[in-house]
Amino acid sequence: MVAVHSTVLGPALGGCRVWTYDDPTLAVRDALRLARAMTYKAACADQPLGGGKGVIALPPGTRLTGRRRRDALLDFGETVDQLDGRYVTAEDVGIGSRDMPMIAQATRHVCGLATSRGGSGDPSPFTALGVEAAIRTTCAQAFGDASLRGRTVAVVGLGHVGSRVAQRCARAGARLVLADVDPAKRVLAERLGARWTTPARALTANVDVLSLCALGGQLDEAIVPRLRCRAIAGAANNQLATDAVAAQLAAREIVWAPDFVVNAGGIVNIAVEFEPSGYDAGLARRRVRAIGDTLAEIFAAADAERTTPLAAAVALGEQRLAAAAAAARAS
Ligand code: NAD
Repeated sequence: MVAVHSTVLGPALGGCRVWTYDDPTLAVRDALRLARAMTYKAACADQPLGGGKGVIALPPGTRLTGRRRRDALLDFGETVDQLDGRYVTAEDVGIGSRDMPMIAQATRHVCGLATSRGGSGDPSPFTALGVEAAIRTTCAQAFGDASLRGRTVAVVGLGHVGSRVAQRCARAGARLVLADVDPAKRVLAERLGARWTTPARALTANVDVLSLCALGGQLDEAIVPRLRCRAIAGAANNQLATDAVAAQLAAREIVWAPDFVVNAGGIVNIAVEFEPSGYDAGLARRRVRAIGDTLAEIFAAADAERTTPLAAAVALGEQRLAAAAAAARAS
């Protein structure tokens, strides 16, 4: 299935995920929710893209392999093609780089292919670059200083993005606390001279910055009173269990950088594929660094309006969508 939430700013971009669902209606709900989140991510990052999402839903206990996988990917590609460019697909959970060329056999509306195929390749280094820029802006907001030298940063989740965030922070002079459910990731902690701990301990560690780079939903009403960090900025999607947690964090004077602003580096990078002159990694890096400026704008608006950074980020996205819709009506 494909969900298109908005094409007001441009073609709806969003990865395709292969995932198991107990019930097909849950898959529909997931696609709709994720497509909406992509709209706000692109709007806040000021990209000429809308929000969409693809889902190949599997019944519980099934795996998609061999001939069936090939057929499903081609079917999905045909579905994308029927939308005639209103939706552009990319990689997401459960889809590998070998799957994308298969989808691309059925439609040209695919992006994020390998650089050897003219695409923008792995988005993770760009996401990590954006997270570092966001951590610096969040430090400026919380401590009045964007430098990471001497700051303590806990990174929870050391996968494609988190491992790079940790390396970037170490290079910038931060002292690190690292955690992952996978004990093999301890090697990175040893290499960076970081303190290794469990994810539960890292979450409530006495640090300046907490960078959540694993799964979503880790910040709920029970954990907030136990947090000992002053600022939170990480790559994980949907970090807040509910929107009410944003107010709870603000009441404790913990600066939370909205996740969909922080982790936009991947789509900012992919959007460069749409440039008339084609993909350019240097241009992508310059644009990804601007995530720090966007976040500064959001913090300033939240302070001025006496609201949370979450509300200010949503308002910024809505403002850009309304302006583009008004411009389209006028032309
Ligand atoms: P990944 O799968 O490469 O890494 C996730 C890491 O988190 C793994 O090392 C895993 O062992 C660890 N992990 C899982 N559960 C954990 C837990 N409960 N506590 C601690 N560690 C745990 O994923 P990724 O590509 O690095 O993405 C990380 C997060 O950032 C995800 O939420 C993803 O949706 C989001 N994100 C990623 C990108 C990107 O460019 N890859 C872009 C935007 C958002």
